[in-house]
Amino acid sequence: MNFGIDDLPVRDELRGKSPYGAPQLDVPVRLNTNENPYPLPEPLVERITERVREAARNLNRYPDRDAVELRTQLAKYLTDTAGHEVGLANVWAANGSNEVIQQLLQTFGGPGRTAIGFEPSYSMHALIARGTGTGWISGPRNDDFTIDLAAAEKAIVENRPDVVFVTTPNNPTGNAVPPETVLALYEAAQAAKPSLVVVDEAYIEFSHGDSLLPLIEGRPNLVVSRTMSKAFGAAGLRLGYFAAHPAVVDAVQLVRLPYHLSAITQATALAALEHTDTLLGYVEQLKAERDRLVTELRAIGYEVTESDANFVQFGRFEDAHTTWQQILDRGVLVRDNGVPGWLRVTAGTPEENDAFLDAVRELLSFVG
Ligand code: PMP
Repeated sequence: MNFGIDDLPVRDELRGKSPYGAPQLDVPVRLNTNENPYPLPEPLVERITERVREAARNLNRYPDRDAVELRTQLAKYLTDTAGHEVGLANVWAANGSNEVIQQLLQTFGGPGRTAIGFEPSYSMHALIARGTGTGWISGPRNDDFTIDLAAAEKAIVENRPDVVFVTTPNNPTGNAVPPETVLALYEAAQAAKPSLVVVDEAYIEFSHGDSLLPLIEGRPNLVVSRTMSKAFGAAGLRLGYFAAHPAVVDAVQLVRLPYHLSAITQATALAALEHTDTLLGYVEQLKAERDRLVTELRAIGYEVTESDANFVQFGRFEDAHTTWQQILDRGVLVRDNGVPGWLRVTAGTPEENDAFLDAVRELLSFVG
């Protein structure tokens, strides 16, 4: 007998749904999940080894439940780079910003509550909403993928969501959201409910513009979420964090699992933060490669969305999935995010980007 998920007593809202599933294929050039292509430098690998060895000696004990040293160092990094002073009390960390988002939705969303995002955007916002029993509202965007402010404000007023997601720079489109738009959405959300506004800045280090972190001052319902998966080149580490009013940090304590951040994770993240300057050195190279991808794709004749991230959305294709397969057949894995007519490529090393550009130059099927 073929026994499957639907034969189990799973929650109704999970029936017939698919899990998050960016393909993990073994191909020569992988430019599909917005990772940093550069392996960690050897001195950092050494430092991680030292810190982890030390942590291993105490693995009989639970780790620091409040991750005080790590949150202090993350606060220092934000203070040094984002133009606003934050401290331990403002910062919370979890296993990737996905877990940060999950904890925020467990605290501020949940059954009987709703969250809104302006789509296309990061698909996990909707999936984590579903996983936490939070209703999902798909807010609008303009054809050029900017947020249609009037329509977005209207959606907030009409739906009175409990959580509002604003991703800047946005994934998968790449464009940043102007600070005035975020402020207007915050005001609309406060007038309508008030609700929690989560600014997802996973890619902010690659932006031409500044972090919106200073906006948390005087706005206790504004959260800025970050990750070490992109700019720090540490996607395998699984470390995300947010900065907000200390009350938000206190609130997520109600749902976080005790000792959720392992001693190994904390030790590794602390070692990486000691090498912030080296790691962020790659960001400048990646920004230059991102800009080169935009220029060269346009020169070939593709349409390209403005990018402030480490990836570029390009098109337009009659059938994006067929084009995705044609690029894969040439040994290059890009991402089909299901945005009709568009694909997304992550900025890799110069050699990887050349391989990608060679592959798409050969395609004759684009609409242009
Ligand atoms: N937010 C956005 C906008 C993302 O694109 C991603 C990863 N693709 C994440 C959050 C989650 O990143 P992580 O869990 O690795 O921190």
